[in-house]
Amino acid sequence: MKVTEIFEARKKEGKPVLSFEIFPPKKEEALKNIDATLERLCDLHPDFISVTFGAGGSAADNKTIEIAKKIKNVYHVEPIVHLTCLYYGKKEISEMLKYLEEAGVENILALRGDEKPDVSVKNDFRYASELVEYIKSHGNFHISGACYPETHLEAKDAVTDIHNLKKKVDAGASHLVSQLFFDNEFFYRFYEKTRIAGINVPVEAGIMPVTNKAQIERMVNTCGASLPEKFQKILRKYEDNKEALFDAGMAYAINQIVDLIANDVEGIHIYTMNKVKIADKICEGIKSLI
Ligand code: FAD
Repeated sequence: MKVTEIFEARKKEGKPVLSFEIFPPKKEEALKNIDATLERLCDLHPDFISVTFGAGGSAADNKTIEIAKKIKNVYHVEPIVHLTCLYYGKKEISEMLKYLEEAGVENILALRGDEKPDVSVKNDFRYASELVEYIKSHGNFHISGACYPETHLEAKDAVTDIHNLKKKVDAGASHLVSQLFFDNEFFYRFYEKTRIAGINVPVEAGIMPVTNKAQIERMVNTCGASLPEKFQKILRKYEDNKEALFDAGMAYAINQIVDLIANDVEGIHIYTMNKVKIADKICEGIKSLI
């Protein structure tokens, strides 16, 4: 099923879409346990699960695609495969698309990816919008894109970033997933700007439940999300108490989600970090709202 159909069905019910994001574990040992993780995540009945993509390797040895196939064929939940393009040429992307089609994957989150100082980029795709355009003309996939409520770190300013986002939507992205944020006001202001700019596709709010201080500092450095004072207070108070920080992090995320749903958000995308306990807690906290 294509993501657009999922949004339409949810809209009819007056409920937001709920999705999870997972990553393919790097360690072989963790990869062996992925089935247990998938089984428990799928038991929570998300509308879809997206699987992140690390650059490198061919379609056939790509763990993202293998995991997406399992999500679809074993657990019967719709997968979205993330696909980045900085390090791939058109020929390799074309092979990936063929492989995805054969695997029955219908949904792709088309991304540029981040530049890495030690890896040289291929020059076929500079921006995600170029990948979107390429996918659109090479198959029958539903295409999603990423968006940034607090503006992408490399963008000149918020207006330029929104204009660039419009190019991505005009190229064929029919659903957007947001970068994580801890202050819903950023999301609301961003959403309003998308509508003013004529971007009319569903925008899912990306929520990252926080469970430890190092994790959040790393995330904030790489994605530029700002930490509101009330959130920093929680981090300072409970940074040395693992259990308390977990509980406080879950309560904060649930609070964010309740506010988003009350404000008619179209979808909630939970960055689960492959932690079933996190997804469990969040779903328990919002079970009558979704
Ligand atoms: P783009 O949409 O290409 O935007 C990148 C920058 O270029 C922005 O500043 C934009 O304003 C600018 N720009 C865009 N188009 C133009 C244009 N035509 N002219 C001039 N400037 C332009 N990374 C991974 O490696 N693997 C993943 O699985 C992954 N999953 C992600 C999932 C989500 C939901 C999000 C939000 C991010 C994810 N990322 C992932 C990170 C992502 O690759 C980076 O944030 C990257 O820096 C930007 O990717 P993008 O697709 O948003 O790029």
